[in-house]
Amino acid sequence: MFKKILIANRGEIACRIIKTAQRMGVATVAVYSDADCDALHVTLADEAIHIGAAPARESYLVAEKILAAAQITDADAIHPGYGFLSENADFAIACAAQDVVFIGPSVAAIAAMGSKSAAKQIMEQAGVPLVPGYHGDDQDPAQLKSAAQTMGYPVLLKATAGGGGKGMRQVWSEEDFDESLAAAKRESLASFNDDSMLVEKYLIKPRHVEFQIFFDHLGHGIYLAERDCSVQRRHQKIIEEAPAPGMTDTLRRAMGETAVTAARAIDYRGAGTVEFLLHQDGSFYFMEMNTRLQVEHPVTEMITGLDLVEWQLLVACGEPLPLTQEAVQIRGHAFEARVYAEDPDNDFLPVTGTLGRLRAPDESRYVRVDTGVCQGDHISVYYDPMIAKLIVWDESRDRALQRLSNALSQYRISGAVTNLDFLYNLATCRPFEDAQLNTGFIDEHKNLLFQTRSENPARELPLAALALLLHRQRQAKQVISCLDPYSPWQDNDAWRLNGTHRHRITLRCQQQDYTVELEQQGAQYRINALGEETLLAGTLEDETLRFESAGHRQHATLAYTHGGFTLYLPEGACHFSEIFADTGEKEKAASDNGLRAPMNGTIVTLVAKTGDQVETGAPLLVMEAMKMEHTIRAPCRGIVQAFCYASGDLVDGGATLVDFIMSEE
Ligand code: ADP
Repeated sequence: MFKKILIANRGEIACRIIKTAQRMGVATVAVYSDADCDALHVTLADEAIHIGAAPARESYLVAEKILAAAQITDADAIHPGYGFLSENADFAIACAAQDVVFIGPSVAAIAAMGSKSAAKQIMEQAGVPLVPGYHGDDQDPAQLKSAAQTMGYPVLLKATAGGGGKGMRQVWSEEDFDESLAAAKRESLASFNDDSMLVEKYLIKPRHVEFQIFFDHLGHGIYLAERDCSVQRRHQKIIEEAPAPGMTDTLRRAMGETAVTAARAIDYRGAGTVEFLLHQDGSFYFMEMNTRLQVEHPVTEMITGLDLVEWQLLVACGEPLPLTQEAVQIRGHAFEARVYAEDPDNDFLPVTGTLGRLRAPDESRYVRVDTGVCQGDHISVYYDPMIAKLIVWDESRDRALQRLSNALSQYRISGAVTNLDFLYNLATCRPFEDAQLNTGFIDEHKNLLFQTRSENPARELPLAALALLLHRQRQAKQVISCLDPYSPWQDNDAWRLNGTHRHRITLRCQQQDYTVELEQQGAQYRINALGEETLLAGTLEDETLRFESAGHRQHATLAYTHGGFTLYLPEGACHFSEIFADTGEKEKAASDNGLRAPMNGTIVTLVAKTGDQVETGAPLLVMEAMKMEHTIRAPCRGIVQAFCYASGDLVDGGATLVDFIMSEE
């Protein structure tokens, strides 16, 4: 076994690898950029080497700096994690030249799968089923368009060098082809320095089912069951599970053996993932192979009881696979939810912030939290905004899902907008409980998943107002008891000599403001919201709101989060913030117009012209942030008075982009 390994990565994956290495008695070396001086992975490792400035291209992506760190520390091997240099064949070559083991497949295998087009050509020859498409070398736009025409719309344009959903565009009709091709090429060039495209038939509502495969040096290869990663936003996974619901033994064998055939076609070694699109009729097609450990590998670990990083180290040392195919056992069901600093209500755009409060659910044999950040850490623009992976396991899917929603409601993060409420809504919604999975899931069920869902928060509003009132009373009590524990003024139960005490609270939910009136009558509150009267009794203990209505006692969890609080009920999460009369309108106007830069970025092109009269949703300009293009659209009917920036300009997150005048209706 290696004596010491260097981990050429950061965040949760670096921490994850360090944990296994330490358990195996292997010393670890971390590398870190200026932004990560106090990061968790640096603290956990036995040694750490500074490798440069915060931008990844000046640190984590610089092969020479990583190799120099390995040399200084005398590391035997380098684990690349995922992302960064993990699928970079030149880096694997450089490792070999320096006599350091690259913990991953051979250079040839990485190179073979590095281009989506080349990979498809290899798989076609190996008899692996492919989605109908064009993956040739002729990149003439006319050729790509005619290929699209031949296979029929809708089609999907993909960057051949692509990954992370970048450089990918759905095209629904011929008229949109040229514009989509131009945008996909621009995005691909910016991200991968290569704008070659392939065109595929766009399958409607398939499932994304992938197989974990493992090969050793002796040519033994097996599959470790599958993962269903169908629930995606922007073609990127957000929640994964294993095994795939509804998977039969026959289909698992057929797909698993195809995955092994695919890997064998490139003489594979180590851990890899073969991704398939699974059609509703049970047919499946190779999509791509990832020649590294996947973000979602923990769900496979939970159902097989194996440690895949341990296997990676064993295989990299030349040891045979620890298990045969027949000996692989699957037990129970696991989910992984990716907790991100991102705003689901703003097209899931990444956000930055300092994690003022971070409390993860307690870990147990059922709950695992893989993270690379601590309270007080900053989520910066430099790296992926993932805060943690929450992984749960239980004997059945239902029970595991119950654990997932419980664990999500225990998470507390403030300082950055997160997708926690969205994940909770996902985990508790009926279609997900019923495993109606497909890659269009989020779009199909958006009314259940987003804060901006259409219906009124009629059930949640009285509860939220009551919770806020009880919270205020508790705070007032704490202040008074600090000053004088025996004061009669401690009884802040709103008792009045002649009559009752009324409260009026304005809450914002789903971008709407609601005024709620509460009148205390003994132990009960008469609550008027949305024209309905509700009689509720309630107490707030720590973060639990216990309430009773007509003898029915229930409870909800209250989480103080970024800019307000979230109420977690069994049927979903709802976020509220309190609005004060004088600031309400101004705040609403500023947040509603949506014409601010969602984050730091560059203006790519101005689509509308100054003076244009536009309809709601019309594209005004395109900006690029984090290597992805975002179209800024008209929030309502109006006139483009002026653009504040020109194409090519750099803009700061939050900057006003367009001077826009709303039309009088
Ligand atoms: P990337 O490498 O950029 O992540 P992938 O090729 O893995 O891109 O595809 C990402 C996702 O896009 C898939 O999980 C799937 O949801 C969707 N997708 C890819 N190809 C197709 C297709 N031909 N039809 C429908 N959806 C597709």
